[in-house]
Amino acid sequence: MSRNFVDTYKLKGLRKKLSEELAAKGNFDYSLINIFANLPRHFFLDSAFAEKAYQDQAFPIGEGQTISQPYTVAYQTMLLEVKPGDKILEIGTGSGYQAAILASLGAKVYSVERVQKLSDEAKKVLQHLKLMVKQYVGDGTLGLPKHAPFDKIIVTAAAPIVPETLLAQLQVGGYLVIPVGDKETQEMRRIIKTSESTYKTQTFDTFRFVPLIGEEGW
Ligand code: SAH
Repeated sequence: MSRNFVDTYKLKGLRKKLSEELAAKGNFDYSLINIFANLPRHFFLDSAFAEKAYQDQAFPIGEGQTISQPYTVAYQTMLLEVKPGDKILEIGTGSGYQAAILASLGAKVYSVERVQKLSDEAKKVLQHLKLMVKQYVGDGTLGLPKHAPFDKIIVTAAAPIVPETLLAQLQVGGYLVIPVGDKETQEMRRIIKTSESTYKTQTFDTFRFVPLIGEEGW
């Protein structure tokens, strides 16, 4: 992948417009909108996509995978109700953009990706931006037992079921935000762990993600 780590006034302008578009589309906090206005999304894409990066769309990142649409990233982040210092597990590092948004909000981010090459590419950008994200390669449906429990868990690929293993790695009071459904469409769910053995599930809008592939995935 060829990278463009150069920022320009033009790209900054497009980024500002994207952040305003997001503010108009959803009920997002100003602090979150501000991060979208500042984080250069084109760093996370091939240089051929530099200007397209500020369209509210998903784009290919290689290996048949995509960077999520900014609106979707904002939506999942909103549902996580991130507080500075939150320990967050992300399943599906992909480009690293969602992880960068969470780290910019002050979360301690652990991110798992099954494709080594994507993880390596994401590392280059996250390091360039000096964002601290702990990256792992493997099947994220199994979570990260060594680092559990987490305050929040976010799955950024389409799950056929809610992985039990991930629920077990949540702190009491913690949230799991996950798109669940078939390979075509998924409903966004937020599962709140109300005690060691009880959960409350909330359902939100429908989205379309690439499949979560693994032991407790497709
Ligand atoms: N959060 C990413 C979205 C990437 S798309 C971003 O901001 O760009 C979803 C990613 O999940 C893909 O990179 C895919 O390879 C990865 N994935 C799918 N199944 C997985 C699994 N079981 N464990 C870890 N990563 C997985």
